[in-house]
Amino acid sequence: MTNETLANNTAELLTVDVTVVGGGMVGAAIALALSQAGLRVALVEKQAPAQFDPGSAPDLRVSSINLASEAWLTALGAWQPLQQMRLCPYQYLQAFEQPQSVVTFDAATIKRSHLGHIVENNLLQLALWQQLPAELTRFCPDSVVKLSQTSDSAILTLDSGAQLHSKLVIAADGGNSQLRQLAGIGTNGWQYQQACLVALVNTPYPQQDVTWQQFTPTGPKAFLPLPGPQGSIVWYEDAARVKQLAALSPQQLTQELLKAFPAQLGKVEVESSSWFPLARMDANSYYAGRVVLAGDAAHTINPLAGQGVNLGFADAKLLTELIISAHQQQQDPGSAALLSRYQRKRKPANLLMMSTMDGFYQLFGNDIAPLRSLRQLALTVASRSSMLKALVARYAVGSE
Ligand SMILES: Cc1cc2nc3c(=O)[nH]c(=O)nc-3n(C[C@H](O)[C@H](O)[C@H](O)COP(=O)(O)OP(=O)(O)OC[C@H]3O[C@@H](n4cnc5c(N)ncnc54)[C@H](O)[C@@H]3O)c2cc1C
Repeated sequence: MTNETLANNTAELLTVDVTVVGGGMVGAAIALALSQAGLRVALVEKQAPAQFDPGSAPDLRVSSINLASEAWLTALGAWQPLQQMRLCPYQYLQAFEQPQSVVTFDAATIKRSHLGHIVENNLLQLALWQQLPAELTRFCPDSVVKLSQTSDSAILTLDSGAQLHSKLVIAADGGNSQLRQLAGIGTNGWQYQQACLVALVNTPYPQQDVTWQQFTPTGPKAFLPLPGPQGSIVWYEDAARVKQLAALSPQQLTQELLKAFPAQLGKVEVESSSWFPLARMDANSYYAGRVVLAGDAAHTINPLAGQGVNLGFADAKLLTELIISAHQQQQDPGSAALLSRYQRKRKPANLLMMSTMDGFYQLFGNDIAPLRSLRQLALTVASRSSMLKALVARYAVGSE
């Protein structure tokens, strides 16, 4: 699939039920679910995903996909093609401060074979794109230059000159959503002082099935397994230090990693690295008129517990269910009643997860003595209570 073959599907004027702007993981899943249900859908995306090359190095952007997201992606038919490309299941999740006192959450405690999978963002996006039906109209590479709204339609003018009339426009164009701004929806939130360095590493182990996170006063250090001996590390630090680390050669970064990370990392070698700023953002409203937000366009969360795209898929699942049900009853998919129902359900759930992650970030990310005692107590209680461990494991897989 190349940009050329997807491009220029640009009728001068097109009327559809729903237009999705942003064909990343969340937007592509929404476009797929709606077109499978028989709605007329258009998808606008800046850049199509590249073809899969089995010999290629893994994408540096990887996500931990929980069981709830996996179940929905399976129902959409995108999980099986992803399995044929590359992904890595993990059975154990470990959290610790001191490497000698590790709390382990095991998929077996909730009678599952795995707690989740580590997937490469671009491959999951590609697996979804591969399922998009021919009837879906793609505008790619393209983007929105103008939005106007009437009482019964939203009108988008694209860079290519095409004009799209839709009953509903879904903004799934990421954290810096242009469509959110065009719709006049403000946000609140902040940039964290910390940033995170992400590196692809070769480990000395043939295959791992555990993802772990060590909490230290300067920030968490995490390992995520990838297929075969490879893995991904995430290193949270003060933003200036992260930028400094990201400028090192792979050999120099390997030395820094081996000094800073706990022994269970093993003698790794860095292949490549990048860094990401960390921001918390919550849109003031999830909709304005006939424009509705989903995924990172609506909220961005500290990636500490790997929940961002899982929350996005939960938005996408609910929103598409509401739209499909309205469509089946020949009701308006862009009605204020439908969009406010979506917001009432998803906004509090997303805010709760954001605040929980911030609580963790505060509790585990500093060296104030009372908090040190509190987190030691939390980890000790967690390590001794099988009920609590099962509860955390269920929360991690997205079922509670
Ligand atoms: C370091 C790090 C680690 C993370 N780890 C995890 C994890 O383990 N688990 C997890 O669940 N989440 C994780 N996340 C969060 C996750 O990456 C995001 O939540 C997810 O990418 C959001 O998907 P999305 O489709 O909403 O937005 P995006 O992935 O940002 O996709 C937006 C799409 O819109 C397109 N686009 C943008 N602007 C326009 C425009 N104007 N016109 C047309 N198209 C446009 C883009 O090209 C892109 O394809 C992590 C994030 C970071 C930074």
